[in-house]
Amino acid sequence: EQDVTEYRKSLSIRVSGFDVPRPIKTFEDCGFSPQLMNAITKQGYEKPTPIQCQAFPIVLSGRDIIGIAKTGSGKTAAFVLPMIVHIMDQPELAKEEGPIGVICAPTRELAHQIYLESKKFAKPYGIRVSAIYGGMSKLEQFKELKSGCEIVIATPGRLIDMIKMKALTMLRATYLVLDEADRMFDLGFEPQIRSIVGQIRPDRQTLLFSATMPRKVEKLAREILTDPVRVTVGEVGM
Ligand code: ADP
Ligand code: MG
Repeated sequence: EQDVTEYRKSLSIRVSGFDVPRPIKTFEDCGFSPQLMNAITKQGYEKPTPIQCQAFPIVLSGRDIIGIAKTGSGKTAAFVLPMIVHIMDQPELAKEEGPIGVICAPTRELAHQIYLESKKFAKPYGIRVSAIYGGMSKLEQFKELKSGCEIVIATPGRLIDMIKMKALTMLRATYLVLDEADRMFDLGFEPQIRSIVGQIRPDRQTLLFSATMPRKVEKLAREILTDPVRVTVGEVGM
C-alpha cells in the first residue's frame, strides 16, 4: 500500500472513491491482447501516461470514472483502449444493433480526433466506428449509422438529431464517455447531454473526462455516475 501511495505521488496522481484499483506501470500490466499491444506499439506508445496508468485498471474493472488531467495528457487512449476490450467482451456481438460505445465530445474537431484514434485500435478487430457531427450531410450519416457500428463518436446535438431520425438505437450502448465535459458545459450542451444519458441503460459504464472540474460538471457527474473513482493528475483548476 505504501508503494502504491509513493507510486501515485511520483506521477502526481490523486484518487478518491471506494476500493480504488492500484495503478499499473506498463501496457503489459493491463492484460491487453497481442492485437491491441501491436496497435499500441504501432502508435509509438512506449509506456502509459500517468492518467492512463490509473485509468486503465479502473475502467477495465468496470468502474465508473471521473478523470481530470490537463490537455495533452493522453486522456483519449485512456478511454479508447478499455472501450475496445469492453466491446470485445460483449457476448453475441451481432445479435443486437446500435453502438456499444458512445462518446460525446464538444466540437467536430475533437470528435474527429477521437474518431481517428479509435479507428487505429478498432480496425484490427473489425469494430466499426462512426463519427457524427455537424458539417457533414445528415443523410450520409443516417445511411452510415443504419449500416451498423459498434462505436459512435458524436457532438451532442447531432447525436440527438440522429436518434430522433431513428438512425440508431441506444439499446446496446453500455459504455458512455463524456469527453471534455467542461467544454461541453461552456458550449451549453448540458440539456443535450442529460437527454442522451437518459436514453442509455442505467447499468452502463460511464466515464467523464475533463481538463477542469467546475461545480456544474461535478454536480452532473454525481448524478449520472455510479460509485465513481475520481482521478486527478497534476494541478487542476476549477
Ligand atoms: P488529452 O485528451 O488529454 O488532451 P490526447 O489523448 O489528445 O490528450 O493525447 C495527446 C497526445 O499524446 C496525442 O498525440 C496522443 O497520440 C499522445 N499519446 C497518448 N497516449 C500516449 C502514450 N502512452 N505514449 C505516448 N504518446 C501518447
Ligand atoms: Mg482530449
